[in-house]
Amino acid sequence: MSKDVNLMEDIVSLAKRRGFIYQGSEIYGGLAGTWDYGPLGVTLKRNITNLWWSTFVDGREDMFGIDAAILMNQKVWQASGHVGGFNDPLVEDLKTKKRYRADHLLEQNNVENVSSMTFEQMNEVIKDRGIKSPDGNELSDVRQFNMMFKTHVGAVEDETSVSYLRPETAQGMFVNFKNVVDSFYPDLPFGLAQIGKAFRNEISPRDFIFRVRELEQMEIEYFVHPDEWKQHFDYWLDQQKQFLLDLGLPEEKIHHVDVPEEDRAHYSKYSFDTEFDFPIGQKELLGCAYRTDHDLASHMKHSGKSMEYIVKGTNEKIVPHVIEPTFGLDRTFFAVLSNAYTEDEVNGEKRVYLKFPAHLAPVRVAVSPLLKNKPELVEKAREVYSTLKKEFGNVMWDDNGNIGKRYRRQDEIGTPYCVVIDFDTLEDNAVTVRNRDTTEQERVNIAELAAKLR
Ligand code: ATP
Repeated sequence: MSKDVNLMEDIVSLAKRRGFIYQGSEIYGGLAGTWDYGPLGVTLKRNITNLWWSTFVDGREDMFGIDAAILMNQKVWQASGHVGGFNDPLVEDLKTKKRYRADHLLEQNNVENVSSMTFEQMNEVIKDRGIKSPDGNELSDVRQFNMMFKTHVGAVEDETSVSYLRPETAQGMFVNFKNVVDSFYPDLPFGLAQIGKAFRNEISPRDFIFRVRELEQMEIEYFVHPDEWKQHFDYWLDQQKQFLLDLGLPEEKIHHVDVPEEDRAHYSKYSFDTEFDFPIGQKELLGCAYRTDHDLASHMKHSGKSMEYIVKGTNEKIVPHVIEPTFGLDRTFFAVLSNAYTEDEVNGEKRVYLKFPAHLAPVRVAVSPLLKNKPELVEKAREVYSTLKKEFGNVMWDDNGNIGKRYRRQDEIGTPYCVVIDFDTLEDNAVTVRNRDTTEQERVNIAELAAKLR
């Protein structure tokens, strides 16, 4: 599947128009690689994270939640290998000084097997094929670019005060491994789980919320006996797919891809990506990596603190190995949003709607009086609204414009049901329930309404 530019434009424009996602710092011309989630976006995002947390933390006995600080001692990033190894290949347009990801530029120029190339090989291909920047200018040599945002902690700006905005949430869990073992002494295997922001100074952020500089991750570090890593790896890869299915994403759009050695992160011995058919093509949505004892062993060495675990029963002393299923929240949001985007025709007119599953829809039900200037209708509608709001929470009051316009607006934000109170309601205590997907309308008695919607 290749990039569908029109579809992307339609999705980005709907996301802005209806309050899902705005460009970051928009009134000042934006800030590349940042996006702000609006009122409906934040609710949809929360519905995704709540499902993730209830599935992987609350729903299991072997998982412990963590919420670690974003700023960490710089030694963490030296030990993890990110100071030395979290790099992307960069080339610069010698005239405009614009910078590009060298591997992406080569791929755009139909060069194959880019991921396995050394920098020298990339330079050779650029020279041999006369590859220029997108503006048609000469390019610099390829060089390393560290993607971590550097900052200083406290009032003194010197080497000792250097810190980084974390580029992954994972390290917050590794440095707390011993704390959790000491507090809970869990049996192996067990995991730590965290949802939080991560920051990557991407050379060329793009494709809406797919490649951003400030992102959110939902990550698990699952500690296992080294002999058993493969079975746990396979299990977690399946669990990742199951979560996507639970979000209502169709199986045929989900693909597991074995990541070749040259493409793997510096800490990984074996990785599978879960790719998804986005409107920008088939791209990485989730990752699953076998991080071995890379992180714990390295922290043990650099901090001088033991990361050993005594296996219950055998008393064997080991540094556990780690399987890391990682979920990019922004990309998951993008997958849910783009998958929900649907166009059809109603009464000869084009209609756009978001076909969210009911458990993810930011607004579950909209309640309207047929006419807003009829107090008896408004009063009855308010009663229905209050009852439903108590039960479902995310219920919207909507009395703007005529009923046709309300339906269109609710379709565009993906509300599964609209409930309308009309003059007949005052007689028969029944309301009209309109179904987003079929546009069919049904009369339902108020006493049965909540059960019906449930
Ligand atoms: P890519 O190859 O696309 O740069 P990655 O392999 O570096 O991604 P990981 O380090 O495995 O990504 O990060 C875990 C997850 O975080 C990814 O699967 C993705 O969902 C998400 N992610 C990583 N980088 C970004 C980004 N710049 N913007 C949005 N999400 C991201």
